Formats: sequence, C-alpha cells, structure tokens
Amino acid sequence: MRAPRTSEILEALVGFDTTSRNSNLPLVEWVEAYLDRFGVTHERITDASSSKANVWATIGPAGVPGTILSGHTDVVPVDGQSWSSDPFRLTARNGRLYGRGAADMKGFDACCLAAVPDMLAAPLVRPIHLALSYDEEVGCVGVRSMIARLEHAQVKPTACFVGEPTEMGVVIGHKGQRAFRVRVHGKSCHSSLAPQGVNAVEYAARLIVKIREIGDRVAR
Ligand SMILES: [Zn+2]
Repeated sequence: MRAPRTSEILEALVGFDTTSRNSNLPLVEWVEAYLDRFGVTHERITDASSSKANVWATIGPAGVPGTILSGHTDVVPVDGQSWSSDPFRLTARNGRLYGRGAADMKGFDACCLAAVPDMLAAPLVRPIHLALSYDEEVGCVGVRSMIARLEHAQVKPTACFVGEPTEMGVVIGHKGQRAFRVRVHGKSCHSSLAPQGVNAVEYAARLIVKIREIGDRVAR
C-alpha cells in the first residue's frame, strides 16, 4: 500500500467544514477509516449530544508512558471573509496550500496522520498517541474530556506536543486565561433616599474598570 502524502490527507481534512458550530463526525469517520487501513486502534470520545468527538489513537507498545501529538479538528468560521478560492477546498497557489485550517491546524493533523506508516514501521519503545480534539476554537472544550480520562489512566503520557502554528518555533508556554461569572446585587430604594440604596450597575462598572486596570498592568 502506498503511503499517503501529507497534502492528500490535508486535502481530505480541509474538505470537511468543521467550523466549530458544525459536527466534526464526518471528519472523525474519515480519520477512523484511515487508521483502520493501518490497523491502528482508536477510540472515540463523544460530547454529550453525540454530534462531536475526539479521537484518541495509540501506536506502539501499551502499558508504558508515551508521547502525545495533539491537534484540533475544528476551524474558525469563514463568514463574511473574502476568499479568492473555496476555503473548504485545498488549493495550491505559488507553492503554498490554501484552505481554512490548512495551517491551524489541520496541517499538523495531516502531518501526524501521514507519519502513521513510519510510526508503525519504527521499533517504538514508547507509544505515540494521536489526540484529535473538537471545539478548540471556542474555548478548548473538546480536549477536556480527553484530559479527564488521562487523569485516571494507569500509565500517563510523559509529554504532549501541540501542533499549533508557531512558524516552527518551539513554544514551551502559553498565555493563560481565567474567566469569572460575576453577579452584582444592588439595593433598591426611592430616589429621594438615593444614598441609602446601592446601584448595582454603577458598582459593576467600577469592577469592570478595575479588571481593565489589572489587565493593563499585566500587559505592561
Ligand atoms: Zn489552532
């Protein structure tokens, strides 16, 4: 069997409109069929609605700590953007490949999948795990269920490579983010007794300004 070229795999992956609002299952099925061709075992970890799924596949020996290659399968929308070619059809122009997700990050997914035959042929002492997730673009939602499973795994992987585009630079850290949901309660009163009341909107506004100040300070 001829080893598939990365660009051929990328062409297939880009062809699925996996904008985060859509199901990624057609892509998942394609990946599973691809892995089946090589006899690679894989597992599907679906979301609550069963319309999206992560794929977890292992190549190499079981029961020893391995290395994860992690990529997401969803892409950001193309609505209202001016594309000179169909964003969901991989197009080659001037030695480059264009398509939604061609770089971020179906490109990495395709590279990993194209390397599967080489991984199988290699005398792996430690396994390689492929972790393809859904809903990364809307807050890394999909990968959480894969991480949760690893917490309880008998053997935990030792490293994870996330193939986000960094112009080939090695990035060992990433800005974090914290989100809080805040409810501000006021106290109503008659306008003639305004000082005895509490205007929730006013205090919420102060809070927002304060958070912005912290943000500016951290940015500096
Ligand atoms: Zn990405």
